[in-house]
Amino acid sequence: MKLDPKDLVGVAVFLGALSVVVIHNGPFGHPAGHRVGVADAGGSVTAPVGEPATAFVDFNVLPMDRDVVLVHQTVLVRGRRIERVGDVASVEIPRGARIVEGHGALFLAPGLTDTHVHLRDTYETWLPLFVAHGVTSVFNLEGRPSHLALRRRIATGEQPGPSIYTAGRYVTGPEVRTAADARSEVARQASRGYDFVKLHGDLSAEAYRSLTEAGQDLDIPVVGHAPRNLPFSEVLEGGQVALSHAEEIIQTELRSLDAQSIASLADRVAESGMWIMPTLSHFDAVASQWGSPSAVEAVLASEAAAYLPEGLRREWRQNNVFLDADTADRERVLEMADFHRPLVRALHDAGVPLLAGTDTPIPTQAPGSSLLLELEALRDAGLSGYDALVTATVNPGRFVRTYVDAGAHFGTIERGARADLVMLGADPRGDLGTLRQPEGVMVRGAWYERVELDRLREGVAGSR
Ligand SMILES: [Zn+2]
Repeated sequence: MKLDPKDLVGVAVFLGALSVVVIHNGPFGHPAGHRVGVADAGGSVTAPVGEPATAFVDFNVLPMDRDVVLVHQTVLVRGRRIERVGDVASVEIPRGARIVEGHGALFLAPGLTDTHVHLRDTYETWLPLFVAHGVTSVFNLEGRPSHLALRRRIATGEQPGPSIYTAGRYVTGPEVRTAADARSEVARQASRGYDFVKLHGDLSAEAYRSLTEAGQDLDIPVVGHAPRNLPFSEVLEGGQVALSHAEEIIQTELRSLDAQSIASLADRVAESGMWIMPTLSHFDAVASQWGSPSAVEAVLASEAAAYLPEGLRREWRQNNVFLDADTADRERVLEMADFHRPLVRALHDAGVPLLAGTDTPIPTQAPGSSLLLELEALRDAGLSGYDALVTATVNPGRFVRTYVDAGAHFGTIERGARADLVMLGADPRGDLGTLRQPEGVMVRGAWYERVELDRLREGVAGSR
């Protein structure tokens, strides 16, 4: 078999799309969490009636617009926005506000974003796993009309879940052959309201240039794979906004895994202005299960998979193309996985903005918890704990504000930002593992205590 993990990923996603699970209850089983056991604000002098307020009192706050922890802070949330952040003594708490005590010991970080997920048709069963793990926004990189509807239901508060930014269907040859095909596909996706155009395969040089130009003209960012039939220089010059795997650079430019070439390549990427989703954990997952059913069984038996619905468990065992991969290629795949580390480190050092993404739910990348694997892999590559967190907080917020929605404001804890918060027992910069079990999560102002997060996870574990 010829080695081409990208093709295998494509097949895996396609096979996964065929296994549709129908669930009739809403994914979270009960109405929005923010009303659980809580007295909403209203009637006080400082609180406009109708907008519930929550005060997080005496917390260590990671604002994530700089590498600092602000101690003894109160964060006041009104409705879906952060209204104030300030010293405990300086922030007046509106009468009737729900109060969450930090006792000067707990930490508050912005909610996390997974910038590379695939909601497919099965999301209904596992969507709550994102919130349960502090993932308050996702970039869905293969979209359907049902995802536009889901995005709207979540945005209006009709359905709980992470905020969704979604691409349309994959753009790839042979469906898109000519420059005109590419332009009309971009126009079609832009007019339907998708947030990104996702390139997912080979394209002719002519169609590729037309695709990125149309993206710029129509104000919709082109993200995704590199067309592997073209030299990577075409991608760097073409204006593609983001690359959805660092692997694309290896497959098109650094196939020889020559460490000497990394630094100059990283500088060229930085000059191009392109953003990169390293998806280190995704490639690690591919490498570790390459022809190895026992690797998948080990993950399924671990804590990370304790809350997966049956459908994903079955799919990882039975519709898993990586298990059929030729073990003769295994060594090469493991070398590629190792090579990702210095590559991503060099991209970071060169100033390339990175976005944390997992490709969940491809086999062994569990929705929600795999984002922690990605952050740990980024730190393993040489990023500081803070810089790893940047890729899942302030950077996705900046990306969306720059290319998708100028009014979006998330990924930081500051006045006016979306009230997406994760409450933690320790400083995640020094201990990313504290993200494994958040003490609480707020999604667009809806608050979930630890016990409710557990309930969300357990609800998924019992589902098909
Ligand atoms: Zn993907």
